[in-house]
Amino acid sequence: MLEGLLSKAECAACRLCCKFDSYDLWQTPVIYKSLASRILQEYAPHMTFVRREEHFLMKMEKEPGADVYFCPLLDQEQGCIMGDDKPFDCAIWPFMVMELCGRKVLTLSPACPVVNGRKFDDVCIAAQAAAAEVFAFADSHPEIVRPFLDDHPILAVEKSRYKTTLV
Ligand code: SF4
Repeated sequence: MLEGLLSKAECAACRLCCKFDSYDLWQTPVIYKSLASRILQEYAPHMTFVRREEHFLMKMEKEPGADVYFCPLLDQEQGCIMGDDKPFDCAIWPFMVMELCGRKVLTLSPACPVVNGRKFDDVCIAAQAAAAEVFAFADSHPEIVRPFLDDHPILAVEKSRYKTTLV
């Protein structure tokens, strides 16, 4: 979805978003049941999941001697082994859907060194182009919507679904 902004080669060379510390484990991708089944069948038969109400998270092991957790689907040489099948959170990162005052907003993670080096205008254009599809997905998959963090610039705002009527 972000092809014009971020190439697969740049993602494979960086891999920062596939590595977590104990403070940002909340950002690990949301995995829905169908994708969890596919991961077990096609990519990582020994994967262990942590069950949440309507989704799963991948269990990640802490690296010895460091506060680092690598995604189990990360190949250190080639990047994500899921390619185009990767979870939606990963497909749109460094964009993230957050909720601010009851409205979904599309924000930019400050952690991505590649996209944060792009012209901000180009980042906004890519966000506006992706916003309708991302918000539609978030409507049916609310687990991907995180609380707003004020160090994440807002790039697009969900249009109100409610009409106001003057009385
Ligand atoms: S699923 Fe793939 S893209 Fe997402 S965090 Fe894991 S290795 Fe990275």
